[in-house]
Amino acid sequence: MNYLSERRLGPMAERQLRVGVIGAGMAGIMAVIKLREAGITDVTCYEKADSVGGTWRENTYPGIACDVPSHVYSYSFAPNPDFSRMFSPGSEIRSYFEDVADTYGVRPYLRLGDEVVRAEYENGCWTIETASGHRAEVDVLIAATGVLHHPQYPSIEGIDDFDGAIFHSARWDHDVELEGRRVGVIGTGSTAIQITSALVDRVDRLDLFQRTPQWVMPMANTPFSDDQKATFRDEPEKLRELRDFLETAFAESFADAVVDAESERLDEIEATCRANLEEHVADPELRRLLEPDYRAACKRLVVSEDFYDAIQRPNAELVTSPITRIEPGGIRTDDGQLHELDVVVLATGFRVDRFMRPTEILGRGGESLEDAWADGPVAYLSISIPEFPNLFMLNGPNGPVGNFSLIQVAELQMAYIMQLIDRLRSGESTEIYATESAMREYEDRRIEAAQSTVWVTGCNSWYLDEHGVPAAWPWPFGHFREVMETPELEAYNLR
Ligand code: NAP
Repeated sequence: MNYLSERRLGPMAERQLRVGVIGAGMAGIMAVIKLREAGITDVTCYEKADSVGGTWRENTYPGIACDVPSHVYSYSFAPNPDFSRMFSPGSEIRSYFEDVADTYGVRPYLRLGDEVVRAEYENGCWTIETASGHRAEVDVLIAATGVLHHPQYPSIEGIDDFDGAIFHSARWDHDVELEGRRVGVIGTGSTAIQITSALVDRVDRLDLFQRTPQWVMPMANTPFSDDQKATFRDEPEKLRELRDFLETAFAESFADAVVDAESERLDEIEATCRANLEEHVADPELRRLLEPDYRAACKRLVVSEDFYDAIQRPNAELVTSPITRIEPGGIRTDDGQLHELDVVVLATGFRVDRFMRPTEILGRGGESLEDAWADGPVAYLSISIPEFPNLFMLNGPNGPVGNFSLIQVAELQMAYIMQLIDRLRSGESTEIYATESAMREYEDRRIEAAQSTVWVTGCNSWYLDEHGVPAAWPWPFGHFREVMETPELEAYNLR
């Protein structure tokens, strides 16, 4: 046990907890590290895939990168001086998580290739069942199952009749030849924009099927020189300074702006995007087609330094006539045209309301999560669900999914969860779960505050739930940090 956890727990600490973590992506790896640091040794991290990395393992499409600067999109405790660029490619981010899993001794705690299919709370503990039939009992369950995880397949007539290759962007088929082929990309989210830029010069023709235009924030993706990387390695405080600077800049320029639709900063973001469109798209008709009729950052802001160049290449076409159906030879649009294609990429996003599901989760008295979330996923502070004791979520429902680095979010949430876990270890409590009233009161405040955000200013996006309420944290980053500092125990049932 390290000094910190000893200090937190005091000399009375005695209960040895068994902890199960579901998911070995960014959040799950960090959870294992933090549990181990606190001296909890009976930890198993269940991962359905054969390797770690979560979204960075699953998304391997051409051009994949993160639009949060790499030195912010990395753990605070594991800075990486070797990131190649300001926004590093997905493969590098995946390697980073693999390296952290090695360096921090996470591997022995992993159970790979075994999906948790059921978890039931009874007699003070969770019984976990996996797809292979393995069963285990744990005292605490941490769900680190990700947000953008389950592909959203569009329901387009004829989708199964296509003669060529067709796949979702998160299920990229690397056996499919792209060079010299006619490729159609459906969607204009961050994913489709990155794919377009990466593919246009490799393929014979690229048709981008746009249902809704996107604002595009230009952002130079500067490489770090060998000298800079050496400095980051030799003088870690320089790397820390860069991280601090980027964190503050990101919070002030973006995170705090999106939650205040009246902010000047939001107007500046839009002015920058508008100037980007005007400066980089020469043809007025193409410009008109690419210009959104909603406010910048209402949908997740797309970041790209080369998308407008890509879509103006002679072999690229922006298709704005709606898709009628998919036929064996290509995509038919409402204007009657058949866009003949060899490959179709469905960059159509994710089902963001799933979280740990389809895992069957049964809380106190056999209540199922499916029933508890019949009206949509909710949790107190995104972390705890009434009637589901000793179950804590990282990046759970209605959290800061579109505001800050999800790694920062998960780290702050984990520090908060560790304080609840400490109560279980010290024997002060055996069961902890949010009260229904705390969750409702929190939800009421959150929904009201969401009305001041840019996400409700007149666009459709994956941030909005089925009632049109942003499923997101509607306050500035500083407030999130404050709230995560110390749990308010009166919000919990503590037994
Ligand atoms: P997305 O933002 O949800 O975009 C999905 C796109 O598919 C939208 O343009 C949508 O059109 C379109 N679409 C969906 N169904 C359709 C249909 N039936 N017919 C035609 N078009 C259809 O998904 P994403 O691009 O995968 O991005 C999801 C999130 O992942 C991003 O918002 C971001 O948070 C994250 N991400 C980040 C990066 C990065 O860091 N750079 C990269 C990729 C993803 P409508 O707009 O009309 O609905």
